[in-house]
Amino acid sequence: MDNKKVIIIGGGIAGLSAGCYLQMNGYDTEIFELHNIPGGLCTGWKRKGYTFDGCIHWLCGSNPKDELYTIWEELGAIQDKKIVNHEIYIGTDLGNGKSFSAYTDVDKLRLELLKFGSDDKALIEDFIDGINIVRKSNMPVLKSPDLYNMFDGLKFLSKELPLIRLMNKWKKVSLADFQRKFKSSILNQNFVQLFGMPDDMPVFALIYTLALLGNKDAGYPIGGSLDFAKSIEKRYTSLGGKVNYDSRVEKIIVENNNAKGIRLNNGKEYFSDIVISAADGHYTIYNMLDGKYIDEEIAGYYKNFPLFSPIIQISLGVAREFNDIPDTITTYFSLDEPIIIDPKNTINTLGIKIFNYDPTLAPEGKTSIATVINTDYEYWVNLKKDNPQKYSEEKDRIAMSVIKALDKKYGNINDNVDVYDVATPDTFVRYTNNWMGSFEGFIPTVDTFGKKLKKTLPGLDNFYMIGQWVQPGGGLPTGGMHGRYITQLLCKKDGKEFRSTKE
Ligand SMILES: Cc1cc2nc3c(=O)[nH]c(=O)nc-3n(C[C@H](O)[C@H](O)[C@H](O)COP(=O)(O)OP(=O)(O)OC[C@H]3O[C@@H](n4cnc5c(N)ncnc54)[C@H](O)[C@@H]3O)c2cc1C
Repeated sequence: MDNKKVIIIGGGIAGLSAGCYLQMNGYDTEIFELHNIPGGLCTGWKRKGYTFDGCIHWLCGSNPKDELYTIWEELGAIQDKKIVNHEIYIGTDLGNGKSFSAYTDVDKLRLELLKFGSDDKALIEDFIDGINIVRKSNMPVLKSPDLYNMFDGLKFLSKELPLIRLMNKWKKVSLADFQRKFKSSILNQNFVQLFGMPDDMPVFALIYTLALLGNKDAGYPIGGSLDFAKSIEKRYTSLGGKVNYDSRVEKIIVENNNAKGIRLNNGKEYFSDIVISAADGHYTIYNMLDGKYIDEEIAGYYKNFPLFSPIIQISLGVAREFNDIPDTITTYFSLDEPIIIDPKNTINTLGIKIFNYDPTLAPEGKTSIATVINTDYEYWVNLKKDNPQKYSEEKDRIAMSVIKALDKKYGNINDNVDVYDVATPDTFVRYTNNWMGSFEGFIPTVDTFGKKLKKTLPGLDNFYMIGQWVQPGGGLPTGGMHGRYITQLLCKKDGKEFRSTKE
């Protein structure tokens, strides 16, 4: 019997992962990607010898002891990479000579929290206990939760009861509510910001992240995000897969409520037995399928679930080293002069990523720097459309303000900027087509955390969705896991035993 043919829309981490696992299991796949490089949001771009990284703060599953590492290994993404585990997750200059370091080492973090929260000992100890419970747990990720049976459930329950109890305790408490519990003024006013997460996320999400960081299981792969994505692309092509770049899918071809293939915006059509969309969820449902296959629940995701904020990224190539700066993922400091980002957003603090730990991103003796700031989607998209010159001028103005602020903070920046680059929400849409410029899909809030979203559409056969739009929280692990899970599901349907291999 001929192998089944599968078309995958989108060459981000989810699409590439699906391609790899399907090829390992005897499916013939082709990926159609609108951009001319792999990776989607997991990307980077080169300017005058510098690489500006557009994604990885932390790669969950970077420690071989975590099951997730196996997935990265199977995808050829990690085994040849040097991983940097930062000492500080976020460093915040609080002014008046005070600073808070969110250490990745949990004992050090405990002491730092107690230093600022002398009136909150019990709350802090409880929070730290939670991190240590997660550190001792082992989240099973190799089998699709959709294929879990009673025995899998019981096994998980019996092995991971403390984790389940902890999750139930903290999944319905938002970080904003948690912050209000502190009596000490600095933590009561700043806790959420000190950890840099959206304030409607549940406390459990932060506890989980800090546990992975504490286990050195959320490191940064030297080479950065595009290099990481290219490694998976290489694995995919070595397994016999084919990526078609510069190929924007306009429509999914449907016959008798069966997905039959795709049509590109140049009119070319391609046919398959199965279509998987690993591309933007909104565009897939409302444009590629004209909103014909939807129910109230799915429509509700796009109407009601909050999204990760659109962002503007200002990147600088600076001709100097930053060896004296502590090793952090992001450092926040107060601005003497606020920076207007758009008519709705003005910032008084700046969070800066100094890639002094990745020499591959800059020529010798030089450093790549980036700042990512929340902004308004409509403003930038409309400005680009209605007044391209002002769009350019505004990007320049913000870049100049950032350079000035950095010069004041670190010195020796103004005259050393070799190149700068500004990516707005319009840029994110142009290169990844993500709805409202969201960089990680839906936020896992206290209402959506752990929610199972539908990965098929009502009334449409031979069609599946994977990636960040069908899993609140998105992220790279979701992409890696979803490729494995959809393949397990298709193998089960086709009566095949699922196989996975490493390079
Ligand atoms: C600044 C930033 C920092 C981040 N930090 C982290 C981090 O530290 N850790 C982490 O885990 N995650 C992080 N993320 C999130 C992570 O990058 C994403 O959640 C993840 O890469 C999403 O993968 P995906 O494959 O589901 O979707 P995408 O990356 O969006 O891939 C979808 C692909 O489909 C393509 N596509 C869309 N429409 C079409 C079409 N019509 N035709 C053809 N192709 C199409 C797109 O071009 C894209 O390549 C970060 C993201 C950003 C932007």
